[in-house]
Amino acid sequence: MFPVNFEYRRAHSAQEALAALQEHGGEARVLAGGQSLIPAMRYRLARPAVLVDINPVREFDFLREEGGQLRIGATLRDAALEFTPWVGERYSLLADVSRVVADPVVRHLGTVVGSVCHNDPAGDWTSAALAARATMLVHGADGEREVPIDDFLVDAYTTAVQDGELAVELRIPTPGARTRGSYQKIERKVGDYATAAAAVQLSLNEDGTVREAGVAITAAGSTALRVAQAEAMLRGQRPTLELLQAAAAEASTLASPMADARGSVAYKKDMARVLVLRGLKQSLSRLGVPA
Ligand SMILES: Cc1cc2nc3c(=O)[nH]c(=O)nc-3n(C[C@H](O)[C@H](O)[C@H](O)COP(=O)(O)OP(=O)(O)OC[C@H]3O[C@@H](n4cnc5c(N)ncnc54)[C@H](O)[C@@H]3O)c2cc1C
Repeated sequence: MFPVNFEYRRAHSAQEALAALQEHGGEARVLAGGQSLIPAMRYRLARPAVLVDINPVREFDFLREEGGQLRIGATLRDAALEFTPWVGERYSLLADVSRVVADPVVRHLGTVVGSVCHNDPAGDWTSAALAARATMLVHGADGEREVPIDDFLVDAYTTAVQDGELAVELRIPTPGARTRGSYQKIERKVGDYATAAAAVQLSLNEDGTVREAGVAITAAGSTALRVAQAEAMLRGQRPTLELLQAAAAEASTLASPMADARGSVAYKKDMARVLVLRGLKQSLSRLGVPA
């Protein structure tokens, strides 16, 4: 099917993009990689009257560490994370995700910020953003605001970005030397959305106890879900196998997936547990701690 008619606007600067979005309000949508928006338009699930293409905005194409954070610009492609060696060395969780989102073609076009803005319940970046405690920088008529990821992900396909606003940058706290993460995903075939997936990040104290834990699950609810109970159980404790198993079981309790061709509710709930456990173990293994 073809999309309904729309006006196409190319923005060459952040100001131009914002002006176009504010001029058209709820009628306008941002076009980033187009990997979710264009299919939605072709199926007529989305019918924006105006598309504001931010791809020509050079100032949005960046990946840098600054102020203790990794800063991911609005047009940075998934593939940039996959092929930047220092990301692999310092951001194990993000590096894992960058290898399993969709397929290589989609990853060369799709953007990290666009994926988080799309907020697909089965999206991989949203879970990672939760586990890594990301924030999103949003620009609008009243200036800029930095939104914690838990507040940014409002509901399926809905975020804190309002009409006339633009997400410009995802910020991920730079993990310290004693922090590692892992992303575990089960998919029917390469390039598919997750049947189930889990994002985990663990920080250890000098004495080997858990200083901070980030645990989130994918395709288990209307958005990616933070498994807050698991995080609370892990914090301050020594990561024994029994503790990891108990924390992972919380993912199964929280998960509320939908049955579909990828699996039953019971299967997906159990996979949430299995994948969180694998993620916890791999994070510890990357920290040099046997589990
Ligand atoms: C075949 C296929 C397989 C896929 N498999 C997976 C998968 O396994 N896992 C996964 O996570 N994803 C998957 N995707 C989705 C893919 O990762 C998309 O790239 C991503 O979800 C959206 O990023 P985008 O840059 O293409 O955004 P777009 O499609 O351009 O935009 C998506 C939405 O976000 C909004 N938006 C984008 N950028 C901004 C911004 N800066 N500010 C405000 N709003 C913005 C748009 O207006 C639109 O509503 C798949 C896609 C395809 C086509």
